[in-house]
Amino acid sequence: MNYLADSNRYAEMMYRRCGKSGLKLPAISLGLWHNFGRTDNLKTCRDILTCAFDNGITYFDLANNYGPPPGSAEENFGKMVSDNFKAYRDELVIATKAGYTMWNGPYGDWGSKKYLVSSLDQSLKRMKLDYVDIFYHHRPDLETPLEETMSALDLIVRQGKALYVGLSNYKTTEGVKAMTLLHRLGTPCIIHQPKYSMFERWVEDGLLELLAKEDVGCIPFSPLAQGMLTDRYLNGIPEDSRVAKGVGFLTPDHLTPDRIDTIEKLNHLAIERRQKLSQMALSWILKDRRIPSVLIGASRTQQVLDAVHCLDNMDFTSDELNKIESILK
Ligand code: NDP
Repeated sequence: MNYLADSNRYAEMMYRRCGKSGLKLPAISLGLWHNFGRTDNLKTCRDILTCAFDNGITYFDLANNYGPPPGSAEENFGKMVSDNFKAYRDELVIATKAGYTMWNGPYGDWGSKKYLVSSLDQSLKRMKLDYVDIFYHHRPDLETPLEETMSALDLIVRQGKALYVGLSNYKTTEGVKAMTLLHRLGTPCIIHQPKYSMFERWVEDGLLELLAKEDVGCIPFSPLAQGMLTDRYLNGIPEDSRVAKGVGFLTPDHLTPDRIDTIEKLNHLAIERRQKLSQMALSWILKDRRIPSVLIGASRTQQVLDAVHCLDNMDFTSDELNKIESILK
């Protein structure tokens, strides 16, 4: 199907440099962890992707195991890129990862060179691409020598299969070792992908400082705590929500009365700021200049549009910041 991107797509989006690399990222990036697998509606997937690109979102985040079943998000994305986005490949930053279990046996998981190189070859085939823009090691592997994992990332770049490399879920001490090795190999880590939201603050305990010192960009995942930092669950559990679908890690027991009470208070504050809660949660992360982009998920186009419009109100007064902290206590 022919798709003609909006000619104004770069007008409103903010682009920020990722660490000290040459790569600029949109402040809002889109991930395909949920809602893009074989069980999802391909037309909705296409609508979300085109809506994102039409609004200046250029970074699309995948991993070998996204689905379900694993691999199917890359397959669907490959279909959509070859059907709709072929003319725009040079305007897209496409990322994938390997690190979690992808196939049976000793070579389908963790961080060996054998696994990482084979996995990326499979991802490229599924996505019908010659290269990805960013390849991440998805999680640290405490058994494989870090030297081997990092030299696999370096090899992949030298082979032309990825332009840049990144790390995900590495804690501060593991991160510094990995970044030093990559630096020595001549393939610097340009980006780190940790979980970070108002509800998940561990990165404030050293990781963000490290990334600033090493000039590595931070792209937080699940900035909306998988949908909890929105108005989605304020009146029960909608049938079409991530919690109700039961396909991931967000379960009804996350929505305790205390949590709902916190979400309600945050929601009131967001309304006072003339924003949706989802938008306030994203602006709150993006106020930190060490973070070039936040990585959202979306099950419909309106959620993409909501996220993009968080950029309309990025400033917080110190009173608002204090209120947020006291609500979160
Ligand atoms: P979010 O925290 O942004 O959650 C997305 C979900 O929130 C949506 O699917 C939707 O849920 C809900 N939502 C979004 N916008 C709104 C809105 N405006 N109003 C109401 N509800 C809304 O991120 P994800 O958890 O999806 O993660 C984002 C990306 O991060 C992933 O796709 C992946 O690329 C990456 N990631 C990386 C990981 C890693 O280990 N490196 C791990 C996890 C994610 P609903 O479906 O109910 O509509």
